[in-house]
Amino acid sequence: MSGIVGVCTDKLVGAAHPIIYGTYALQHRGQVSIGVALLDYNQLFVRKGSGQINALFPDNISMNIPGDSGLGHVKYGEYLKYDIEQPIMPKEYKINGVNCLIALDGNILNKDFSLHKMVRALNASLQEGKEYLSKLQGAFSGIYLDPYKMIGFRDPVGLKPICAGKFNHGYMLASETCAIDSMGGELIRPLDNGEIVIVQNNEIEFHRYTEKVPKKKCIFELVYTSRPDSYFDGTSVYQARNRMGQILYEECPTEADIVMGAPDSGLIAAVGYAEASKIPYKDGIIKNRYVGRTFLTTDENERKTDIFIKLNPIKEVLKDKEIILVDDSIVKGSTTKRTIQMLKNAGCKKVHVRISSPILKHSCNLSMDTPDASELMAYNRDVEEIRKSINADSLYYISMEGLLKACGQDEFCDNCFTGNYPIEPYQEDLWV
Ligand code: SF4
Repeated sequence: MSGIVGVCTDKLVGAAHPIIYGTYALQHRGQVSIGVALLDYNQLFVRKGSGQINALFPDNISMNIPGDSGLGHVKYGEYLKYDIEQPIMPKEYKINGVNCLIALDGNILNKDFSLHKMVRALNASLQEGKEYLSKLQGAFSGIYLDPYKMIGFRDPVGLKPICAGKFNHGYMLASETCAIDSMGGELIRPLDNGEIVIVQNNEIEFHRYTEKVPKKKCIFELVYTSRPDSYFDGTSVYQARNRMGQILYEECPTEADIVMGAPDSGLIAAVGYAEASKIPYKDGIIKNRYVGRTFLTTDENERKTDIFIKLNPIKEVLKDKEIILVDDSIVKGSTTKRTIQMLKNAGCKKVHVRISSPILKHSCNLSMDTPDASELMAYNRDVEEIRKSINADSLYYISMEGLLKACGQDEFCDNCFTGNYPIEPYQEDLWV
């Protein structure tokens, strides 16, 4: 999982400000590494590092770096051969001595895939770029940039998000609409599945590179990944999560003294549950906002200690209370278990856990970096066994129908819950 942003501006404004703030807006999509590149007609500025963007650009001087276009990338983890720090600039493709750049979010399954080859095809011509993209299999969105143009693209079934927007003096392509909002820009529209967008000479054009097929969007964008102020293909992430909470109550009405969300992933669904149930919503746990998302920490030992640095219960809210704890998912279960223990140590009488996605049984090798299926809490366990394992007083997962209803459409990949793989099995002859 990554976040990508690309900008083309005129020289009056420059790209440094929109690229740095656009990348900042996508920080929730990855905190392992970050890269920003700014491109002028004959010069290139690149800065890459680990962690968050404020460490990469600690001062305002950065805003004056020259460049009228640029790319930003935030990365979740290290698990694929091409998943190196991005944006990348293959040495062999230059225009006027300046590199061509690319940033990618997702996984491409073709044997022999490399970002270098992708850059070569997109650099050659629109037709060659389209032909190359049409051979790719996987979940991906990407942005290519050279001194004359910016090209964005989305995978054939639309698993990964990418959208196009306009702001004063330029265009922005980004994984999420919140990046366009961060510049006070306006969304033009999300890219369709199998679509390519070209920004050139201050104009924007959309083209198809594959036949239109039914979408299979990653439903986890609405459940967990995207920022709640973003829109995923026109669906408000906030409203979808709020509806998940309401449907959780409708499907499994449970009385309690207070409703609370697991910070931050369960907060909005918890508000929805409280609205539907009329049980008061309370903040029972305070989160230290300066520690990264637990899910984004790949080291399990770090995650064990993270939670105590990150979360602290408010005993006055929790003591002697029966509570509904809403969260988006149970992956390995360790965070949920420690959160429940924390609540009980703070004096909670009972903790009823409500999960706003169905039971997570299958690993994803497409969009998210979930652990191997054998490491998931639901591996070889039913709901009652999971309840006992996390020490909850009751446990309920939203139904698949309920989740789809909350998300408003049925054009989603649901492989993590059902095992229905969203794309054709890998074809050996699809070398690229
Ligand atoms: S398997 Fe799950 S995480 Fe992966 S693309 Fe499908 S819905 Fe998204």
